[in-house]
Amino acid sequence: MLLNRDKAIMWHPFTQQKTAKDMIAIKSAKGSYVYDEKDHGYLDLISSWWVTLHGHGHRAIAKSIYEQAKTLEHVLFAGFTHEPAVSLCEGLQALLPKQLSRFFFSDNGSTAVEVALKMAYQYWRHLGQEKPLFLSFEGGYHGDTFGAMSVGSKSGFHHPFQKLFFECLTIPYPHTWKGDKDIETKEQHALQVLKNHLQKSHKIAAFILEPLVQGASGMRMCRPQFIHDVINLVRDNNILVIFDEVMTGFGRTGTFFALDQLHITPDFLCLSKGLTGGFLPLALTVTSEKIYESFLGDDFQTAFAHGHSYTANPLACRAGLTSLALLQKPRCQRAIKNIHKIHTKELQKLQEMPVEKIRLMGTIAAFDIKNPPMDLRQRFYEKGLLLRPLGKTVYILPPYCMTSQELHKAYESIRDVLHVLT
Ligand SMILES: *Cc1c(COP(=O)(O)O)cnc(C)c1O
Repeated sequence: MLLNRDKAIMWHPFTQQKTAKDMIAIKSAKGSYVYDEKDHGYLDLISSWWVTLHGHGHRAIAKSIYEQAKTLEHVLFAGFTHEPAVSLCEGLQALLPKQLSRFFFSDNGSTAVEVALKMAYQYWRHLGQEKPLFLSFEGGYHGDTFGAMSVGSKSGFHHPFQKLFFECLTIPYPHTWKGDKDIETKEQHALQVLKNHLQKSHKIAAFILEPLVQGASGMRMCRPQFIHDVINLVRDNNILVIFDEVMTGFGRTGTFFALDQLHITPDFLCLSKGLTGGFLPLALTVTSEKIYESFLGDDFQTAFAHGHSYTANPLACRAGLTSLALLQKPRCQRAIKNIHKIHTKELQKLQEMPVEKIRLMGTIAAFDIKNPPMDLRQRFYEKGLLLRPLGKTVYILPPYCMTSQELHKAYESIRDVLHVLT
């Protein structure tokens, strides 16, 4: 049996292997569903860790990967280039603020963040300034490599490695929800802490944040005006701004990117997860000409000495191109709006249930369960729902192919699970 073979050899991510329940062996996937070996379907309400955009097994993306594989599967990206890479970046540039005009490829969200941190630090060195500090939000999660862990030190995920991190100053994150009465106080406090940190501003290279929604720490949302206030203070103090849109990118917050509704152009933008529609690993760090030009020089000294074996893999770039075209279609834009509408309606019905802190942004809905049972995830699986609560938080982040019917039905099943808890 596959499960026994898995147990004998496999080490799974974010898993306590000793107490973990049996893995669910998935054989195939189509649209909003993944299917196990007995063809039992699970409705994928979390887009398989936030990557799937248009649904599983999407024919157009699958076909474009196949065609690309027959033409050019891979070539190193130092000294060489190829059409899918250039086209993908051109396509993205058309959707991004004009100042974000330079694209650097890597493989995943963590590496996209590493690249931004390294570029920011090196940029200041080129200007003759040593700035060894970074600034981030408490609860911010930016990936599991060392730089990303350092700026996410207060995410609650990286405890064993604290001693190895470089220094990062953190600001409280005033997350909010429907009917939150203390939000003003929380925001004022956060701004005060920031102001104190800014005494060291000459040493701070960059401020990194997940704009509008902190993903891994529980789909925690904040008010756009607060982000504006923070960014204004930070920029007045000559600190670069890194938007980690690894999760919020590609329509999740209702706009193409969170920066579109914030009307802020960061110095760096990190993209991954939805970039290929969820088919292949790929990431981008996008920056401005100002940053880029500081790396130009007559020898390798000022070059950006960073690269990965699979940088700009043509298959992944091709998947990205196809996914981007699908995302821009009116049909997909309508689907995003429709998901938001259904969330709004269904969250209303949860108000009498044992939940609190109901929140919604674009296609992301979340709420906290007051006394979550230990086996909550299991109870959802039994209902055929692929949900993965983060602590007390249940969140729904569906692929855009999910039909109204599927989503309404999912909420009905969630209510069934909640009913048993009351
Ligand atoms: C998932 C995530 C990352 C890390 O991406 P990986 O591809 O898992 O390395 C970084 N930042 C944010 C905001 C994320 O949600």
